[in-house]
Amino acid sequence: MTTRHCSQCGSRMVVASIAERPREQCPACGFIAYRNPAPVAMAVIEHEQQLVLIRRRDPPLANYWAPPAGYVETGESVPEAVIREAREECGLEIVLDELAGVYSQADVDVLIVAYRAHSSGGRPVAGDDASEVGLFSPGQLPPQKAPVAGTATDRWLHQVILDVTAPWRAGTGG
Ligand SMILES: [Zn+2]
Repeated sequence: MTTRHCSQCGSRMVVASIAERPREQCPACGFIAYRNPAPVAMAVIEHEQQLVLIRRRDPPLANYWAPPAGYVETGESVPEAVIREAREECGLEIVLDELAGVYSQADVDVLIVAYRAHSSGGRPVAGDDASEVGLFSPGQLPPQKAPVAGTATDRWLHQVILDVTAPWRAGTGG
């Protein structure tokens, strides 16, 4: 864990054991820098009986097919973020159907909230974070090998993608 300067008073933070966990604390003012996973909203979208995936442009898992996803921002709810990410990354307006899952892991600094949804407008087009959009019929998803040299986040995200797309890979659809 790298120490930083206190956001409250500018003193150099030290790592202290607080509530039996290592945390950065400011020796001058006592401020504790809690670290929390950042929430990510994910949309598992059905469009005309097909699953919508984007090919990721950036790490983690660059070049892998994945559901559209992105950070939840202050000023929006998680469902609103799911709808926004779908619009930005694949050009589709969506209606949320149900929560698909909440995914987190101790050594990963994001937390994914995934919803199943269906399109209600727009047409599939790749946005900023995607190099292409793909539509896949049930049972016809592209096989993707687990990353061999990746980070913990890469391996975890690969598992999350497998889990949220499991009904589609099995051929039963969303
Ligand atoms: Zn301080």
